[in-house]
Amino acid sequence: MSERKLLELAAAHAADYLAALDDTHVAATATPDELRKRLAGPLPEVGLDPERVIDELVRGVEGGLLDSTGGRFYGWVIGGALPAAVAADWLTTAWDQNAAIVATSPAAAVVEETCGTWLKELLGLPSGASFGIVSGCQMAHVTALAAARHHVLAGHGIDVQRQGLAAGPQIRVLVSEFRHTTIDRALRLLGIGTDAVVEVAAEDGGPIKPDALAKALKRDSAAPTIVCLQAGELNTGAFDPFPEACEIAHVHGAWVHVDGAFGLWARASTDYRHLLEGVERADSWATDGHKWLNVPYDVGFAFVADPNPHRDSMTASASYFDPAEAGLDQMNWNPEWSRRSRAFAVYAAIRSLGRTGVDEMVARCCRHASRLTSEIASLPGAELIAQPVINQGLVRFLDTGGDHDRRTDEVIARIQARGEAWFGGTTWHGARVMRISVCSWRTTDADIDRTVASVGEALAEVAATATA
Ligand SMILES: *Cc1c(COP(=O)(O)O)cnc(C)c1O
Repeated sequence: MSERKLLELAAAHAADYLAALDDTHVAATATPDELRKRLAGPLPEVGLDPERVIDELVRGVEGGLLDSTGGRFYGWVIGGALPAAVAADWLTTAWDQNAAIVATSPAAAVVEETCGTWLKELLGLPSGASFGIVSGCQMAHVTALAAARHHVLAGHGIDVQRQGLAAGPQIRVLVSEFRHTTIDRALRLLGIGTDAVVEVAAEDGGPIKPDALAKALKRDSAAPTIVCLQAGELNTGAFDPFPEACEIAHVHGAWVHVDGAFGLWARASTDYRHLLEGVERADSWATDGHKWLNVPYDVGFAFVADPNPHRDSMTASASYFDPAEAGLDQMNWNPEWSRRSRAFAVYAAIRSLGRTGVDEMVARCCRHASRLTSEIASLPGAELIAQPVINQGLVRFLDTGGDHDRRTDEVIARIQARGEAWFGGTTWHGARVMRISVCSWRTTDADIDRTVASVGEALAEVAATATA
């Protein structure tokens, strides 16, 4: 089979998969053991025809894919993939550019630079901020917090790049208990360690308390300090009070980093922008492209208001680089060396939507999340826990015997087994709840109707089994 025919075969498989999303079971139906039987086995001794490799791969994964790219998937915070971004991602693979430096792909470098400019404008971040594309928000935290670490220790006369952390005073990191665990892992990877975390009191549902932050900052005001704020709490979508928190932190000389994995995208919507007022006053920001921008996995973005600590902490030089291009060489702004050109798909996503399209998509997801949460909460046996601030809501299911946790998990399992929609569970303030997250461009009003109907039937089925 020719290379062209093979790529056409793969494209046909991909298009078939996407076209069937309306009718297929959203949850995976094959167990890891069943998949192992089809996909594992001894290391192949000899090569196979590529056509057979692709056909057998497609057959092998059947039932083992979660339809998280479909319109009725509301688990975790997982976006879909816009058609233009999927197509650009295929081209990225075919072009196979190494997006390390300008010399390895001038086009990749210019597209990445353009994405940075566009993203800062879309998200309302300072135009002078530096920018790096990484694999996700986890690595965006690592990148931005490396710049923070560099800056706060430079204030104590330490060059952390050369001397390492052992030469300086202990950094402290002020953050609320409602932070995402990727903040902790970034601190581990950066050698700061999780003992550096000082938890600051927050309101129920997320927002950090400014007076508690002020008190914590005063307690050891000479220590090099990083404050991590959040744009979009994982369960409720709540936002920290940026104007007050940034002001207080800066008075004490602290660096402010914002985890905006999905919530920073509310800045792109005229209806929700007010929730993030003052976020531009932070020192660094981390967000995702694969969640709310609906770029296929994987892509995240790090921004740093002052490019100097960002470049100083990431820069890499070698004799084969042209120093004239160093500012544009991507490897000076992210922790990778050879890397995929993730910018092409980001560029395609932004071009296919435009500013108004991103605004509309964000507002639409919020509208769907709001309707989904209130309509599920009004079903018999359901209870509202948190109406969405943006695109994340919480409900739970009530048991007449009082075991609401068990009932909630049973209903979630039942919904997944029905295959019409997919939600996950979590523990919120000690109780089991169902998370509702709407992040996909694909979700329509008809999907919401279908989902509510299926949840209603799942509830009735669980109630019937319980009384039987
Ligand atoms: C998803 C998420 C992260 C981690 O992002 P990845 O893209 O998975 O690395 C961090 N913070 C929040 C609030 C998130 O929702």
